[in-house]
Amino acid sequence: MSIEFEDASLSTAPDSIEPVVGWKSLRLKENGLLYSSMFPTEWSPQKRFKANCGRRWHSSSGTPSPSCTCGIYMVEDVQGLSVYHGNVIAEVQGWGRVIPGTRGWRTEYAYPSKLFLLDGTERDRRQLEERYAVPTVLTTRASFPKPVRFRRFRFSSVIQFTGFMTCVVAGVANLTLGIFGDGGIANIGSGLFSLACAGFIVFMERVIRRY
Ligand SMILES: [Zn+2]
Repeated sequence: MSIEFEDASLSTAPDSIEPVVGWKSLRLKENGLLYSSMFPTEWSPQKRFKANCGRRWHSSSGTPSPSCTCGIYMVEDVQGLSVYHGNVIAEVQGWGRVIPGTRGWRTEYAYPSKLFLLDGTERDRRQLEERYAVPTVLTTRASFPKPVRFRRFRFSSVIQFTGFMTCVVAGVANLTLGIFGDGGIANIGSGLFSLACAGFIVFMERVIRRY
């Protein structure tokens, strides 16, 4: 079991002189600005985008930190964008503190080097190009390389896997007791709750996997 984008052997993240080039999916909103496809964070035009971390468990001073999940996520191969949430696919340069992962990097700073507007208008394309001052191509979602599934779903650690299995076993046991035994409604209730917990663990694993 591996933790994606993490390398346990990395205790310090050296500053990268040469920027890394990766891919991100972004969202163009009606106000003509780009946003992260996951969070309501704006990517300001002609300004480097800086990673911030407000997590309580973030212990070191720098961002991204090897012991945290923060940083600007980018994948090395465009086909590694497993979810196209946004309407813009961006080729981005990342620099500053760079932490390599299995599919790409987490970086401290980033800025797009090329933008691909999916199913937009020529007017939007021109506006985007002028505003962000990078080459912008109008294309269609259909013509873009299809995302490949890199791997089947995997738990990121033994703790998550154990938690999931415990919830499933407890859920099934309680349901069985409630429906077929003399446990009654209380067992059915806690059985359903345990299964919901198992589902939540899977859901969180998927959330972590996106960027
Ligand atoms: Zn952090």
